[in-house]
Amino acid sequence: MANTESPINPFETAKQQVDIVADLIGLEGGIREVLKHPKRELTVNFPVRMDDGSYRVYTGYRVQYNMARGPCKGGIRYHPQVSLDEVRALAAWMTWKCAVVNIPYGGAKGGVICDPKHMSKGELERLTRRYASEIAAFIGPEMDIPAPDVYTDSQTMAWIMDTYSMQKGYSVPGVVTGKPISLGGSEGRGEATGRGCAYVIRESAKDLGLHLKNASVAIQGFGNAGSVAANILADEQGAKIVAVSDSRGGIYNAGGLNPHAVEEFKKKSGSVVGFPGAKAISNEEVLETPADILIPAALENQITKKNADKIRAKIVAEAANGPTLPEADTVLFQKKITVLPDILANAGGVTVSYFEWAQDIQGFFWPLAEVNSRLERVMVQSYNDVHRVAGERKVHHRTAAYALAIQRVVDAIRIRGIYP
Ligand code: NAD
Repeated sequence: MANTESPINPFETAKQQVDIVADLIGLEGGIREVLKHPKRELTVNFPVRMDDGSYRVYTGYRVQYNMARGPCKGGIRYHPQVSLDEVRALAAWMTWKCAVVNIPYGGAKGGVICDPKHMSKGELERLTRRYASEIAAFIGPEMDIPAPDVYTDSQTMAWIMDTYSMQKGYSVPGVVTGKPISLGGSEGRGEATGRGCAYVIRESAKDLGLHLKNASVAIQGFGNAGSVAANILADEQGAKIVAVSDSRGGIYNAGGLNPHAVEEFKKKSGSVVGFPGAKAISNEEVLETPADILIPAALENQITKKNADKIRAKIVAEAANGPTLPEADTVLFQKKITVLPDILANAGGVTVSYFEWAQDIQGFFWPLAEVNSRLERVMVQSYNDVHRVAGERKVHHRTAAYALAIQRVVDAIRIRGIYP
């Protein structure tokens, strides 16, 4: 989420990233401009009836950044600080993320300026249904498929699916992903991001000659993505989870923490802090823990110029979106730390969203083992593609991932041609 105190405009950052890669792959001016502009932007202002009988007007956005490779895909965020530039940037990043994992989607993002923590369930339902009605003409299984993001969840998606279906007169499960299983959600979607992250770590470790058995892992943010990655690395690869944290602080045990036990403890107590047998450490210390693998899985802007030099991991796998600032990237590259960038490392989520949509439009559902094995195939292939480009162009994995993604989008634009 954009830090409102920060002068950094996320869309300016997103455009700079396009320029860096456009220079690298030698793109001419016209196509650069296409990549630096969202295709379509919709702003909607709409009233919602509050529980006390009053009305409030809310503002929402839906930005469809690029659909050269297929229908747009991207989440919907409810937050007081949502802005059009933030939504544009997130839509651009979705475009590149879908292209890195080579799923047939463009990128989009949506948001409503609201404070969901201070709204009742009824108010949120009415806001969601009205926002869905306002954007209904611009979404659909063949055009733009929303999903959950910050402060939206499977219930929000169920309301959008129902609202859209009521307008059509028949059920359209493929209009959104991240739905409850009972409405056409996919097996495995809940753990897809952490699972995908664990797969790319495994592949990278192989390339680096790092044995995952007993390799040490530190995780900032023991939520959905972080805890699933921890469980899979421990259970399937024999890795040792030495440090984890949440918003209240971190814990450390050089001998290894049982991630399942930590998860249970957090469920009961609300935090990992206080877990028996572990030493309390700060969130900053989690990042600087002497561990082979570091997984930032909480917030953006965590690895900066100030602490990059203190990172001791061999692999930094970005389960979170945007945890590393560009200035820190250079330091990590110089220290020969392998950074598996967010658009690759957390793309397992959107990949299984794609599987959900594919299952919905076929009306044919896959067992969990099939979802996971298809996910594994996509993540391994994508890692290998990014790693190859990094080697060929002698750039770090982030630049390689952007180069690969942008090249794929450019190829689609060129082969289609500019209409008319
Ligand atoms: P989540 O809410 O389940 O977990 C976030 C965790 O981070 C929580 O445990 C929270 O306590 C912790 N946290 C918050 N502030 C922190 C701080 N200052 N220091 C340390 N920990 C802190 O969310 P999630 O779904 O796991 O998402 C985490 C990150 O992964 C986000 O950046 C999100 O955008 C990204 N991501 C998630 C998915 C997905 O499918 N869940 C997909 C792509 C990207």
